[in-house]
Parts: sequence; structure tokens; C-alpha cells
Amino acid sequence: MSDCLFCKIIAGEIPSSKVYEDDVCYAFNDIDPQAPTHFLVIPKQHIDSAAALTESDAALLGHIYAVIADLCRQLGVAENGYRVVTNVGADGGQSVKHLHFHVLGGEKLPV
Ligand code: AMP
Ligand code: ZN
Repeated sequence: MSDCLFCKIIAGEIPSSKVYEDDVCYAFNDIDPQAPTHFLVIPKQHIDSAAALTESDAALLGHIYAVIADLCRQLGVAENGYRVVTNVGADGGQSVKHLHFHVLGGEKLPV
């Protein structure tokens, strides 16, 4: 999607602090971290939000969660735990309309 910030990051048109990339997803550090470890994982395919997911996205979601688990092990936050969050829509606090999973860790997170 041409006017989407995260599509532009995937395309390399806007710089990002890349954590990981494969054929289907891209991970990068959040520009405004809310925890010592805070990165985002996004599908390369533009999907507006979790509200647009269907049964046909099951493999994509499984892959993204497996990537998150691997990255958290590599970054040393898996043992103490971490949080995965996806915000949906205005009331959910979604500011970028491209599906993304926040991954937060590295400290005891507020409830
Ligand atoms: P949300 O509010 O759930 O839509 O999350 C959007 C996230 O994207 C926020 O945590 C922002 O800090 C982050 N963000 C916005 N622009 C950038 C950028 N250029 N690079 C990295 N993270 C960004
Ligand atoms: Zn997009």
C-alpha cells in the first residue's frame, strides 16, 4: 500500500533498525520503546489490522509467533518472559494501519 508507513519501511524507503527479515515478515526496533526490549513484527503483505485476519492467515500467524519466540530467545528475554500485543483500531490505540505485533520485554512490565 503506497501511503503506508510500514510498507515503506519494508521497501527500505524509510530507514529502520532491522532485527530480522524473511520472505513473509520483517522485525524492527520501535522508534519510541516502552521497555528495554521493544520491537515490532509485521507481515510483508499489507493487512490493515488483526480485525482483517481470516482462517487463511493461520500459517502466517504461526510463522510470526515462531519468529517472535526465536528472536526473544536470541535477545535474551525469553527466560524471564515478554509480552506480545497487537492494537486494533482507534479505541485499541492503533496508530499505524498495518498489522504489527509489539514485543516487549527486558523488565517486569506493568499490568
Ligand atoms: P500502534 O500505536 O500500536 O499502532 O503502534 C505503532 C508503533 O509504531 C508505535 O509504538 C510507534 O512508536 C512505532 N513507530 C512509528 N513510526 C516508527 C518508525 N519509523 N520506526 C519504528 N517504529 C515506529
Ligand atoms: Zn502497509
